[in-house]
Amino acid sequence: MKLKDVFQRVEGGKLKEELSKKRFACAHCGNTWTELVGFVSAHKTGSEDLCLRIGMDSEPCKTCTLQVRECQRCGSKEVYEIGAPDDNPLSFKGIRQISREAADQLFFGRTFEPQEELDFLDRTRLEFERAIQFLDANVKTVEKGVVEFLERPFRQLTVKFPVRMDDGSIKVFTGYRVQHSRLFEPTKGGIRYSPEVDLDLVTALAFDMTMKCQVIGLPYGGAKGGVCCDPKSLSRGELDRLTRRYTYEILSVIGPDTDVPAPDVGTGEREMAIIYDTYKMFNPQSTYASAVVTGKPVNLGGSKGRKEATAQGGAYVLEEAVKRGDINDLSTLDGATVVVQGFGNAGFNISNILCKDYGCQIVGISDSKGGIYSEEGLDPSDVLAYKNSNPERTLVGYNGLRALSTEQLLTSPCDILVPAAKETQIVGAIASNIKSKAVLELANGPTTDLADKILIEKGVTVLPDILANAGGVTVSYFEWLQNKVGESWEISEVKEKLRRKMSGAYENVVETAKDHDLDMRSAAFVCAASRAIDVIQERGIFP
Ligand code: NAD
Repeated sequence: MKLKDVFQRVEGGKLKEELSKKRFACAHCGNTWTELVGFVSAHKTGSEDLCLRIGMDSEPCKTCTLQVRECQRCGSKEVYEIGAPDDNPLSFKGIRQISREAADQLFFGRTFEPQEELDFLDRTRLEFERAIQFLDANVKTVEKGVVEFLERPFRQLTVKFPVRMDDGSIKVFTGYRVQHSRLFEPTKGGIRYSPEVDLDLVTALAFDMTMKCQVIGLPYGGAKGGVCCDPKSLSRGELDRLTRRYTYEILSVIGPDTDVPAPDVGTGEREMAIIYDTYKMFNPQSTYASAVVTGKPVNLGGSKGRKEATAQGGAYVLEEAVKRGDINDLSTLDGATVVVQGFGNAGFNISNILCKDYGCQIVGISDSKGGIYSEEGLDPSDVLAYKNSNPERTLVGYNGLRALSTEQLLTSPCDILVPAAKETQIVGAIASNIKSKAVLELANGPTTDLADKILIEKGVTVLPDILANAGGVTVSYFEWLQNKVGESWEISEVKEKLRRKMSGAYENVVETAKDHDLDMRSAAFVCAASRAIDVIQERGIFP
């Protein structure tokens, strides 16, 4: 509910709006019932425009602060709350008068208490729900069912499949493909190989993909896939067999016009080539079968610039933010110090691009085995060569530098912090000690809700994942277009088109943030939710 709606509705007198219900049981007669406990009320006053109050329906006891409540059937005072309160996360600790500013914050700003414990999926849902409140008036009339439809995945496929291992044994793996929304088809999203892959994580990543595609304005729905495995412990042959069998198991739901996978953590060009080959074997007559997957080797129809695209898109977003003065006390990237968590596709490429093209000084880098920091700056290519040359494949030990833990690395002094590893890395305790002026989220979901709030309050500019790392899916879209029309664009053309998409999306997000006085993450979700709901409303509900 927006404050202006409250104003309108209170014109004729008082307003009382239900916000929260709880279930109660009577210990005496066994009666159970649901009762309104939280509300917002408003009335016109003489001096002020409006007096707003959030409260509980029954007054707390004056001596013990417990709410006075009795069974509605037998009158007994032995009454207990049962189950969880309904899903409204506002907590009601008693009646309190709130200021006009606080009311503005409540209705226009971040209306829900930040929560540290939420997992990635719940965080995405929460951001989406927050965004719904700021949609344009025509979209605002959206039915509850449409919101629910967008919050839930359209299709979740779980497959179990056997793979012959090098030692002759058979190992059974679990894989997933989740298509979050069919706003547009094909759906689009990467494939992750990691021991942490499960249905919830893949579902969260698929939801994120829907939001990401809408922020950029790509005609895709979101999807994601993955296999629960440790790719580092598998041989090349085992990984190839796993990829082929997994592709076979999801063949019925993927295709150039239905669902198009791409690389993510633990997968790359080689896996994408195998997915293409397997699909083509079963669809020999398909004329543009290579469009079934993006992130392929260039020889197989991969786009030039796809490998670096996630990082390149992030660099364009960062450049835009600095150019527009959106990062406190940072007027140029030349000489700016950068710490990067994660040294795979996204992490290595952002280090390299910021160092070589923008004159940044990369002072900290980490991977899953630990981090290093040097005030003098690190050469990303040299660090990569060191990592690839030692048997443990670690960057720890480079130039005799001290090994750092995750927390030490993330809280090291720098101008720009780039989480480029995985989700839920910047938690509240770390956020309080972060020293950077900006956070460029190349990883998906690296920041918890509480950490996000702490960073915003500290004045750190958070460039949110659904905008900052959307360069990957954007060049995937370019690759898909090239495959469909049999073209191969030059790298300069790819980069120019990517720059235009990223800066256009950045401008849209910043304007939305200004219009509603929101942080960048909330604004990006407002842009995405607004487009997504618009599409559903224009298409209508079938049949
Ligand atoms: P990758 O597998 O190439 O690299 C992941 C890196 O993170 C590795 O260097 C690994 O050692 C490191 N890592 C893992 N756990 C770590 C930890 N606790 N601390 C420090 N480093 C750790 O994966 P990627 O493709 O670079 O993806 C990284 C992130 O970027 C993921 O969140 C992914 O979803 C996101 N992303 C990737 C793409 C893409 O096109 N590849 C696109 C959008 C978003």
